[in-house]
Formats: sequence, C-alpha cells, structure tokens
Amino acid sequence: MLAIGFMLTDEQRTVIDAVEELLRKLKPRQEAYFKSIYDDQHYPDELWEHMSALGLFGALVPEAYGGSGLGLLAMTLAMERFAAHGLGNVLAVLTTMDAMAILRGGTEAQKRRFLPAIAEGKLRMAFAITEPDAGTNSFRMRTLARKDGSVYRLSGRKAWITGADRADYVLVVARTIPYEEVIAQGLRERYGMGLFLVDTKAEGLSMQAMETVGIEGFRQFFLYLDDVEVPEDHRIGDEHDGAEVMFDALNPERILFAAKGVGMTEYALARAAEYAKARRVFGDTPIAAYQGVQHPLARLKVLQEAARMLTYQAAEAFDRGRARSEVGLFANMAKYLASETAFEAIDRAIQTHGGNGFSKEYHLIRMMAPARLMKTAPINNEMVLNYIAERALGLPRSY
Ligand SMILES: Cc1cc2nc3c(=O)[nH]c(=O)nc-3n(C[C@H](O)[C@H](O)[C@H](O)COP(=O)(O)OP(=O)(O)OC[C@H]3O[C@@H](n4cnc5c(N)ncnc54)[C@H](O)[C@@H]3O)c2cc1C
Repeated sequence: MLAIGFMLTDEQRTVIDAVEELLRKLKPRQEAYFKSIYDDQHYPDELWEHMSALGLFGALVPEAYGGSGLGLLAMTLAMERFAAHGLGNVLAVLTTMDAMAILRGGTEAQKRRFLPAIAEGKLRMAFAITEPDAGTNSFRMRTLARKDGSVYRLSGRKAWITGADRADYVLVVARTIPYEEVIAQGLRERYGMGLFLVDTKAEGLSMQAMETVGIEGFRQFFLYLDDVEVPEDHRIGDEHDGAEVMFDALNPERILFAAKGVGMTEYALARAAEYAKARRVFGDTPIAAYQGVQHPLARLKVLQEAARMLTYQAAEAFDRGRARSEVGLFANMAKYLASETAFEAIDRAIQTHGGNGFSKEYHLIRMMAPARLMKTAPINNEMVLNYIAERALGLPRSY
C-alpha cells in the first residue's frame, strides 16, 4: 500500500493507521455511502464528521489557531486512503485550500475568527474563480468587487462552483480593477484581483444547480452575485493583489487532487485484481493468469507508485516551506500523472470486469466521471504541461 522508499514520520504513519482503522469500521456502511454519493449526489455528513474527529481539517492549521499542524503530507496521506476506499471528498480539499489562503493572506483577526472553526470541521468552504467565459484564462473574469465605504459590493456570475449548496462560505475571486483597465494601464494581468469570503446566505447571492454528474456527491452551481455586500474584513489579502494569496493555495489543492488520483488508482487496481482472480472464462484458469489481463494492471501499478512519490515529494516540499515555484513544479507533475493514471486505471478495471464493469454493483462505471474530471479540473492537463514545459524546460509561452 505504501511507497516504501519514502520516509514518513511516526506521526504521519499514525494518521494512515487511524484513517485505515476508521474505514475498516465503516466498511459495513460502504454500500449506503456509495448509494448516497453516486445515486443521490449527496456526500454523507457523517463522513465529514469522522474526518473532522480525526483532526484532518486542522492539518494545515497551526496549533495556535486550534489546528493539529500535522501538515500537508499528513492530509495527503489521509485523502489518499479515503479515495482508496472510493470515498474521495472534494469539499474537504476546497476547505483546506481556503484555509491555506486565510493562513497565508489573512489578518490576525481573520485567522482567529475562521481557522479554529475550520479546524474543528464546523466551517465548510467552496472556491469560486471560474466564470462562463473565463475558465482556463481566469484573469479575464468579469465579476467585479466595488469598494463602497467600509464594504465591497460584488456583482457577476460564477460557474461550476462545487459544493456551494453545502458550504458556509465561498472564497470568491473578483476583479477589483476591470481586466481591460489593468491591460490599458500596462499592469500585470494578475493585478487588480481580490479574494472575498462570501457567506452563502448573503443577500443578493443566489445559486442554481448545474446539470452535471457531480464529483463524488457534490454538485456544481452557477452563482449569481447581485450587489452582494461583503464586509471589508472578509477580504483576504491585499485589495488588488489577492492573486498572490490564491497562488499560495493552489499548490495544496493540486497536491490533494493528486492524492485522490493515487487513491482512486489503488481502488481500481484492487477491484480489478480481486475480480480477475475469481473470474474463470476458459476452463479452470482465472483470467488473472492471462498476461493480457495482468500486464496493463502491472503497468498502472508502476505509474501509481511514481505518482505517489511525486505527490508525497510535493507535499513534503510544501511542509518544509520550499519556494512556491519549486513546490508548484512537483505539484503539477503529481497532478498530471495521478489524474492520467487514475482515469486509465478505472478504464482498465472496467475492461477486466467485462460486462460487469458496467453494472452499478461493481462501483466502477460511476467512478469514470470523477476520474476523468481530474484531467480537466481544477486545471486542465494541457495547462499543467504548459507550466512544466515553461518552468522545467525553459520553453517559450505561446498563449
Ligand atoms: C465538475 C467540475 C467541477 C468544478 N469545480 C469548480 C469549482 O469548485 N470552482 C471553480 O472555480 N471552478 C470549478 N470548475 C471549473 C474548472 O476549473 C474549469 O472548467 C477548468 O479550469 C477549465 O475551464 P473551462 O471549462 O472554461 O475550459 P476552457 O478555458 O474553455 O478550455 C477548454 C479546453 O481548451 C484547452 N486549452 C485552453 N487553454 C489552453 C492552452 N493555453 N494550452 C493548451 N490547451 C488549452 C484545454 O484542453 C481546455 O480543457 C469545475 C469544473 C468541473 C467540470
């Protein structure tokens, strides 16, 4: 199960053991969880509470703010284990990412107000940057935050916002200076963007569910912001330089998505191996004995271990406080390999199951969408390769 070449601390191993013990205990509930997640598009609250009882939401929060300070690698290990049991939790990833933004960009008062509640699992947070006409190129977003005395007024439209209906706050990225103005003044594209913690019950904020298959029990929403009043003390980071804080939070997000991919691959390979050992098609030989069945699974196992090492390396670099660009390189590589591998692993597990791969009973076909999604969101793999090409190889930027 574990990458043996990687030196984990006793504390990190304790996290793995605690999560594994919990998941063993919850095994009899797995069918009910899958039904809730995949049929009803509802991630069970009790799983959130179990995660919270393990202190996972406080992993990135220092003890001074009520967290456990376990670090990103510990959270990565925990997320991987949940995904290895088919129970990835994307809102936990988004909440962790938002906590990171508060930790890096928040004032002392904001840290004291929000971080202990996040660490206790009492605050759930979504993240909203994407708009219908600003996805990969989010700098061109149109949502505007206008300063009005001691408040900001936010207006615009966001799309694809995961878990907005289950979140207490959404960290909204908005333009504090319109894009065209920034360009006309010769400023950096990323300048003139602010981060705002918006209460999901705020007046003027409405949401509409999108017709998507969701991600492991969390649905996607259009958010409509119609002059939503946000107190000044809910702005995280500099008024015009919120992008700096956001970039600090993107690496943990990518690393935790990579962990989900590594865990999902483990889930797929375990299901495939189990089925192949039992299924007999020609004579008394199980299909597991055929190399046409074995080799694709063995190849994916190699890729999974490589993705795992990259993921742990990125998380450890983050925990050691290495430069954002250095962490970013490994975080992007990890996200790329983990997502490509997870998608292929689910596909191969389905192939190994023959027709049964399409039966809901085997819980593979419904994981196809979440596995596929990781190649597109939170950032598409073409942009990930662009980043690696530019930063690791010094190749020119074409866009
Ligand atoms: C299920 C789901 C959940 C999501 N959850 C959230 C969320 O919680 N919060 C949030 O803010 N957003 C969320 N998103 C949005 C997601 O981050 C965007 O969909 C993604 O960043 C791509 O943006 P886009 O859809 O506008 O694609 P576009 O920007 O239109 O790009 C389309 C395609 O063009 C290609 N492409 C674009 N630019 C380049 C380039 N420079 N080089 C090479 N190829 C390129 C890529 O293949 C890309 O997939 C979610 C999306 C999905 C599908």
